[in-house]
Amino acid sequence: MSIEIPISMSLGGDIYFRLKHKGGMKNKLICRFAVNTSFVIDNIATFTKETVDPDKVAKDARYHPDFKIEVFFSDSCPYCSPEHRVEKVCVKCISRMEEEELENWYKIQEILDGHDYPNHEQGVMLNFN
Ligand SMILES: [Zn+2]
Repeated sequence: MSIEIPISMSLGGDIYFRLKHKGGMKNKLICRFAVNTSFVIDNIATFTKETVDPDKVAKDARYHPDFKIEVFFSDSCPYCSPEHRVEKVCVKCISRMEEEELENWYKIQEILDGHDYPNHEQGVMLNFN
């Protein structure tokens, strides 16, 4: 089974899913799971019986042993990446940010710019002594 979310819907941050079986009288929870888009690697998040809620799903024989949910993402912008400095984020992405979010990104950039990074010798001293 595949559920597709329209590509025009931009999602980011914590996303919470609840899968329900649509019943005649009431909808019954199949499972629920959450993902933060910042931690999605290669645009795919995978969940198994052991990684969804509630915990009883893992022991429930009605769920196939190979039960798996895959959530596929696509990048919302072909030009920007999370590693970019705020000044290098494209106009389209900047326009989607709220003012407070943009201010926070500038503050983070300022903190990172003002931080002294150790050189190789200092790094060795910090990590191995
Ligand atoms: Zn962009």
